[in-house]
Amino acid sequence: MIYKRSSALFAEAEKVIPGGVNSPVRAFKGVGGTPIFVKEAKGAYLYDEDGNRLIDYINSWGPMILGHAYKPVVDAVVEKAKKGTSFGMPTEIETKIAELAVSMVPNIDKIRFVNSGTEACMSAVRLARGFTGKDKIIKFAGCYHGHSDAFLIQAGSGASTFGTPNSPGVTQGTAKDTLLANYNDIDNVKALIQANKGEIACIIIEPVAGNMGCIPPKSGFLESLRVLCDDNNILLVFDEVMTGFRLAKGGAQELYNIKADIVCFGKVIGGGLPVGAFAARDEIMSYLAPLGPVYQAGTLSGNPLAMAAGLAMLEALDGEENVFTRLAEKTEYLHKGISKVLTKNEIKHTINRVGSMISVHFDENEVCDFDTAANGNNDTFKAFFHGLLNEGVYIAPSAFETWFITDALTYEDLDFTINAIDKLAKQI
Ligand code: PMP
Repeated sequence: MIYKRSSALFAEAEKVIPGGVNSPVRAFKGVGGTPIFVKEAKGAYLYDEDGNRLIDYINSWGPMILGHAYKPVVDAVVEKAKKGTSFGMPTEIETKIAELAVSMVPNIDKIRFVNSGTEACMSAVRLARGFTGKDKIIKFAGCYHGHSDAFLIQAGSGASTFGTPNSPGVTQGTAKDTLLANYNDIDNVKALIQANKGEIACIIIEPVAGNMGCIPPKSGFLESLRVLCDDNNILLVFDEVMTGFRLAKGGAQELYNIKADIVCFGKVIGGGLPVGAFAARDEIMSYLAPLGPVYQAGTLSGNPLAMAAGLAMLEALDGEENVFTRLAEKTEYLHKGISKVLTKNEIKHTINRVGSMISVHFDENEVCDFDTAANGNNDTFKAFFHGLLNEGVYIAPSAFETWFITDALTYEDLDFTINAIDKLAKQI
């Protein structure tokens, strides 16, 4: 594949945008090379500025669950745009999407829309602190909850890829209120609660971690967290920015049958426009301004274009009985196919998968937390990434990321991908 124009565009971008990108994960720093500039996308495919077609396994890092340029979403946005793009006043569509979201997700009565997953998680933690009157939070190493200060402590995703899981610029005062636990290690959480009795407002977790590759919760882990939270007056915050409206209509809460106190959303809920949201039962949401004392606001929150895209996306997911099963089946097919060809070619690997989230770790041992995930961030991954790219298959340019499967992928696309891996496995 030729990436001449992408390289030239990147060189131009670097002159005026730090690192040439508006979000670090887009840079190829972890794998080497220059990022690909997209011209357009349709269904399961990206078309870049050099005229290459790539099968897309990132899908805008999750939102395009039904494929790029999904017609109902595009039509909804175009129609809305003709009527004005922002008012800073209430609109009916905000209530419509809120009603639909509340009907799809268990254990929530009210939802507040924001503009990103970062805002959703940041606001959820503030609300948890306001509601409980406590300051400290527990997060898990390798989990990413956006780039607000309290979360840039052993953060996953780009923060890990670029070696800055604890970002400079986060004050010690902020950092000291974020306690760090190991994913899937309930004894570690218990010890932290014990050592900080009566001080912890919430535990925030990706119920299926997706920012250190895909890491499922071990059996009983989420249940035990729930019990610990109940016993210690701590709120359980599920960051479902990746898992929400992807693993099931009701996200991880539904899949694992665990009740969270506050749930954060992003990605799918906006259908590809900048939307995040956080939601909880009435008692908690009543603490939020203008009803309660916890302040949170946004000029563009509930923006009509964003709401139109989100509503069209949620309606599509709500109206289709089998979409989540179909996604899981496609992902399982891919999992089995990749595993077979890697095994045949004697490449050590572990594949983790939950629903339509999957990642290939180049280590034979179980990958269940940040340390074990880091073992697979190696030269094999880099060769794998570039080999796939050369075959026209685009996966995330970092081992600390999940692949997001879209329903637009056909079994021919999956077979093509598996065959491409078979071919390149012989070389790596
Ligand atoms: N939480 C999780 C689990 C995420 O994966 C992300 C983004 N990858 C965020 C929060 C932050 O969302 P955003 O990038 O929209 O701010």
